[in-house]
Amino acid sequence: NKKENKFKPVPLGIPGVEHIIAVSSAKGGVGKSTVAVNLALAFSKMNKKVGILDSDMYGPSIPKLMGTEGSSIMQNSEQKILPIPAYNIQTISIGNLIDPKQALIWRGPLVTGTLNQLFRDVEWGELDILVLDLPPGTGDTQLTISQSLQLSGAVIVSTPQDIALNDAIRGVVMFQKVNVPVIGIVENMSYYECPKCHHVENIFGSGGAKKMSEDMKIDLLGQIPLHTDIRKFSDEGTPIVEKEPNSSYSKKFMEIANKII
Ligand code: ADP
Repeated sequence: NKKENKFKPVPLGIPGVEHIIAVSSAKGGVGKSTVAVNLALAFSKMNKKVGILDSDMYGPSIPKLMGTEGSSIMQNSEQKILPIPAYNIQTISIGNLIDPKQALIWRGPLVTGTLNQLFRDVEWGELDILVLDLPPGTGDTQLTISQSLQLSGAVIVSTPQDIALNDAIRGVVMFQKVNVPVIGIVENMSYYECPKCHHVENIFGSGGAKKMSEDMKIDLLGQIPLHTDIRKFSDEGTPIVEKEPNSSYSKKFMEIANKII
C-alpha cells in the first residue's frame, strides 16, 4: 500500500460529464455553498445541464439549500447511485445518505472511500457542468479531492476579511500545486447596503479583493453583498437565483456564471 501512495492518483473524468468546476474556500462560513448553489442555478438558467456534488462530508449543506432534506438516494438495477433532482439540477450529497448529525463522527478512511464511490458510481446522465462543492479549507483532504477528479477549474469564495488575512491566497496556491486552473475569486459578504437609505457599509473592509486578484493575476469574478434575502431563501431551500431570478443579487450571480462559461 505504501508503494501505491508514492504515485499520484490519475485524475478521473466522470462519464457523461463535460466540465467539473470546483467551488472552494479557505475556511467555513464564508458562503461557499451559497455561491455554489446559486452559480449552479445560474448555469441551469443559461440552458446548461447541471449537477451539484456535495463533497463536504463533515458538514453537507446542499440538501438544506436545495430543499432535498429528507429525500433518500436510490440505486438503479446496476447498483449505480441516482442523483436527486431539484430545480432542474441533479444533486448528490452525503446528507441524503445519512443523518447530517452523524456526519461529524466519520472516520477518515470511510470519508475517502465514500467520496471515491460518489465520484465513480453516480449515474449523472449527460451533464454540461458538474459543480463540486468542496469541504472548507486548503489541507490534504481538499488537495486529494482536487487531484482525484479531472477539474476544468476552480472558483475561490472568500470574504474581504479572508483576503486581508491572505487565506484566499492559500487556496490559489493549492490549486496551482495540482495544476488546476483558478477561474477566479468571488468576494462574498462584500458589503452591506441599507435597504432603507441605500447607504453602503464595508463591514469587512474593501479594496482587498481587487488588489489580491491583480497581485495574483486572477480574475475577480464578482462581489456579492450581505443581504437578508440571500440567507433567508437559502434557509428555506430555494436559493435566491431560483426564488427571485430578477433581483439585483441574482443578476450578480448570473454575471459571474456568464464570466465562467
Ligand atoms: P460555507 O459553505 O462557506 O460554510 P454557507 O454558504 O453555508 O457557507 O453560508 C454560511 C451562512 O451565511 C449561511 O447561513 C448563509 O445563508 C449565509 N450567507 C452566505 N452568503 C450570504 C450573503 N451574501 N448574504 C447573507 N447571508 C449569506
